[in-house]
Amino acid sequence: MPTTADLLAAGKRYYVPIYKPRETILERGQGSRVWDRDGKEYVDFGAGIAVCGLGHCDPDLVTALSEQASKLWHTSNVFYSEPPLRLAEELVEASRFAERVFLCNSGAEANEAAIKLVRKWAAANGRPPEKRVIVTFRGSFHGRTLAAVTATAQPKYQEGYEPLPGGFRYVDFNDMAQVEAEFAKGDVAAVLVEPIQGEGGVMPATSGFLRGLRALCDRHDALLVLDEIQCGMGRTGQLFAHWHDEIKPDIVTLAKALGGGFPIGAMLAGPKVAEVMQFGAHGTTFGGNPLAAAVARVALRKLASPEISANVARQCDALTAGLQSINAELNVFDGVRGRGLMLGAVLAEAHKGRASAILDCAAQQGLLLLQAGPDVLRFVPALNIGDRDVAEGLTRLALALRTFLKS
Ligand SMILES: *Cc1c(COP(=O)(O)O)cnc(C)c1O
Repeated sequence: MPTTADLLAAGKRYYVPIYKPRETILERGQGSRVWDRDGKEYVDFGAGIAVCGLGHCDPDLVTALSEQASKLWHTSNVFYSEPPLRLAEELVEASRFAERVFLCNSGAEANEAAIKLVRKWAAANGRPPEKRVIVTFRGSFHGRTLAAVTATAQPKYQEGYEPLPGGFRYVDFNDMAQVEAEFAKGDVAAVLVEPIQGEGGVMPATSGFLRGLRALCDRHDALLVLDEIQCGMGRTGQLFAHWHDEIKPDIVTLAKALGGGFPIGAMLAGPKVAEVMQFGAHGTTFGGNPLAAAVARVALRKLASPEISANVARQCDALTAGLQSINAELNVFDGVRGRGLMLGAVLAEAHKGRASAILDCAAQQGLLLLQAGPDVLRFVPALNIGDRDVAEGLTRLALALRTFLKS
């Protein structure tokens, strides 16, 4: 058997070195606890970057996956199978706005499909290519394909990949005047926005901002596209984050928690755009794979339940109170922001840029934690996390922060 050191060395030797995982090799998980191959146990406050919405190895997801695994794995889009058909219907029903669904494999692919749909819609409406601009927001994150990374208005993700596709313009998040100024140019076809920016620092849209965007899009005959890849699927306490704002989008993208850990993405299309892409207009080999769809159906049913929504509210309160009490003692945060179980603790001025060092201390104390940029600790645990796991995670966080402060 290779040692942990051997495996870590293999990772350094053979992976394209685009990631810097912590020096441990996780082996199994149950609920909100994870164990590495050396037997060390962790509380999981990251859920695989907001993916494992039902924790690890949820028994219903395991059953769905293993039952489907002995039936049918893959048909391609040339033949129908039942799980993706049912999933598409269930997503439309759950969404309260969509008429059709495109299933794919990841968030970037869902956004890529949304960007292409915007362009196709504009083209079908007789707009020339220069009048198909998509406005996105500084600090956003929409994925890593060339179009999605161009929509992602953060230079650090784009540098070196020029020439980037055209037709994107960026404005400050939550600044309605800047969006209005872009619309005034007369060439905007869509606004693409995360109701809560995730990677950009767990930054929620201010109250009324999404409503304002909706009104602006309506006035200028443009599409409102919501990227709910991270904030959707129950994470904010509602199945869709935009339900808090009582607006109807034209397109919503989902991925991350949709498959509870099994890769799947989806683009939901409302009445204005549902018929725009016709035969041959887009495609993917793996999208709507029966294995992924079988798991996602169960994940969707469970994540949409009132029990999950109640638990999100309960654990949001517990986590927020715990972070505030840690801060009362250690004075490390400037504040806590976010909604439901998508929370960010903003590091105080003295500790700016040190999120990664805190994550190292957390891992040492048996806590899997994420950052959202260099200045924010990100809390996106499983939505069914229990009282004991939250309490234990907070205890370990306090220990980690004390170690950090001594370093
Ligand atoms: C993670 C994420 C994506 C990209 O999803 P991938 O599955 O990594 O391609 C896009 N948008 C948001 C808001 C995300 O959090």
